[in-house]
Amino acid sequence: MGMRQEHVDIRQDLLQWFDEHARDLPWRQTRDPYAIWVSETMLQQTRVAVVIDYYTRFMARFPTLQSLAQADEAEVLTLWSGLGYYRRARALHESARAVVAEHGGVIPKTAAALSRLPGVGVYTAAAVASIAFGEPVAAVDGNVERVLTRYFGHEPVPGSARSGELRRAAEDLVDRERPGDFNQAMMELGATVCLPRGPMCLACPIREGCATRGEHPAPRTRKMLSRKTALALVQRRQWPRAEVLLQRRPPDAAQMPNMWELPSIKEGQESEDMLLLTVRHSITNTNYYVTVYGLTMNEQKILAKDAGERVWVPVLDLPEQPLTGLTRKILKRLRVLPGFSGMPSMAIGDSPQDPIKDLDPAVVRS
Ligand code: SF4
Repeated sequence: MGMRQEHVDIRQDLLQWFDEHARDLPWRQTRDPYAIWVSETMLQQTRVAVVIDYYTRFMARFPTLQSLAQADEAEVLTLWSGLGYYRRARALHESARAVVAEHGGVIPKTAAALSRLPGVGVYTAAAVASIAFGEPVAAVDGNVERVLTRYFGHEPVPGSARSGELRRAAEDLVDRERPGDFNQAMMELGATVCLPRGPMCLACPIREGCATRGEHPAPRTRKMLSRKTALALVQRRQWPRAEVLLQRRPPDAAQMPNMWELPSIKEGQESEDMLLLTVRHSITNTNYYVTVYGLTMNEQKILAKDAGERVWVPVLDLPEQPLTGLTRKILKRLRVLPGFSGMPSMAIGDSPQDPIKDLDPAVVRS
């Protein structure tokens, strides 16, 4: 029905475009399946620009599957800290151990076998199998779904109602000779040209055959919830022995189990003169408006009795702890952790008197 010829054209156009425009990314300079697996895991729901640094650090510390398999979970989480979706890090770690234990350290070569590893989803399995091993399987994420929906001129439907149909079309479309490049080209097209808002159709290599050439009325995105929380920064001792009170999230917490964060304050107990800063932080579909208050040792009684162990952590050890992304962000803004370049740097523990009083309350948006 003429589709085949069209497919050939879109493959050629897409691959040619990819050859000319592919961004030069660290994980594109390797055929090492482990490195590709790490990069594809990090790239889920996360922008390329953010991933580059994390990937580079992660690979420097865990250059091989074996080194990752032998690592402590806390160290893996520390390197992931700030990247979000920590389940990915745990699953990657667990899978690395499974590959060592059950596959003699050799990563399975097919998407079917890869997807049987703990926590490896259909998308990641297809991405790794096609990029590292040349298996002609389609890797379809949200970006690719959008490109295909527009290209075929389907009515967009929310959720995964059309996933099966799109997936079959994608499998049919994937280039048999260069499946890894084809999949990466589709992802790259979705990430850089066929954008959710204002797709750049004039620069699109598959424009000719595209049934939509523009923005579909997008399916309604999830509504963001908003939540307010009050957190406490409690310090003791002086620089360089300063310590901060942190709390570990329970091991069975739905999100970010075992990671460290600032303790929260009982509702309505905070007072404005304790205010240090306010930060907005988004996690999946929730905007958190987080206000951080500086508490003295005596004011600890206003801390909420949440689950989770509390520990005094030396400020100098903080960079090595598996902090949640929000905690890391707050501690950087407060100069407790290095890495924030907004204002002149001042370590919170520097002042011998009352370091917390030296901080201007500031409202900072992310
Ligand atoms: S022509 Fe426009 S809508 Fe169609 S695939 Fe290209 S960028 Fe997307």
